Order: sequence, then C-alpha cells, then structure tokens
Amino acid sequence: MNKKEREYFTRLILEERQRRLAALGRLQGTLNEIKESRAAEYEEEVTLSDDKEYLSKLIEQDARGLEEINHALEKVLDGTYGRCERCEEPIKRARLEAIPTALLCMDCKRQEEQESLGGTVERQERVQRITLPGEDDGEREDLAIGAEEE
Ligand SMILES: [Zn+2]
Repeated sequence: MNKKEREYFTRLILEERQRRLAALGRLQGTLNEIKESRAAEYEEEVTLSDDKEYLSKLIEQDARGLEEINHALEKVLDGTYGRCERCEEPIKRARLEAIPTALLCMDCKRQEEQESLGGTVERQERVQRITLPGEDDGEREDLAIGAEEE
C-alpha cells in the first residue's frame, strides 16, 4: 500500500470515527434526558427503562466500533494497515473501501466465521449495521411516488 492509498484510507477511517462520535454523543444526550425525566413521570417508568436499555445497547455498539477504528488507526501508524492479521496477505482494496476497519481478508474472515461457534460476533455486527441509519434511504421514497394514485 503506497502513501497515497494510506492517506485515502486514513481519511475514510477518520470520517467513520467522526460519524461514530457524533452518533455516540447524540445517543448519550438522549440517555441523559431519559435519566433526568425519570423521576418526573413515574407511570412511564417501564417504557423509559426499555428505552434506556435500548440506548445503552446502541452506545455499547458504537463504543465497540470506535475501538475497531482506533485499532485500524494504530495499524496505519505502525505500517501494517491493509494487511490481513491472520494470513498477512494484503486485503483487497474493494473490501477496505467497504469496511475501512477490516482486520482480515475475505477468506480469513469467512474461515473465522465458520470456526466461531454460531458466529455470534458477526451476527452482532450485522445487527449493528441494520440498527444504524443507512445512507441509501432515498431510494425507497422514489419507489413510493405514484403508488397511491387511483
Ligand atoms: Zn487473510
């Protein structure tokens, strides 16, 4: 990986880090609001604690994501970024474009999934991707136009 590529992916990682931090800040703000309003409305106690639990999970996921990001940045610094941590072969550019924090090449990732019992971590990652707001939500709106006409 040359200097230009390294800079390119470092920027991708930093952008992802920025997004995560912003999301984390928003979630924590909401969680604080819930904590503060908790005493006020006793009847809503149950709903609030559900919300709180949900938000805490999201925060936990974002915090985990930040750890991955920091790990990737460390790898940039020590010059091992873009190399699979398992077979030490270069990770394909397309994979890094999709997941700048990827630590394993596609083959090793697949192998790891098969080895891990039930692939719990991988499932959590997928859930995380579903939970976080996507950037391609615009398409569905386009499809809906005209559908209600008689
Ligand atoms: Zn590998």
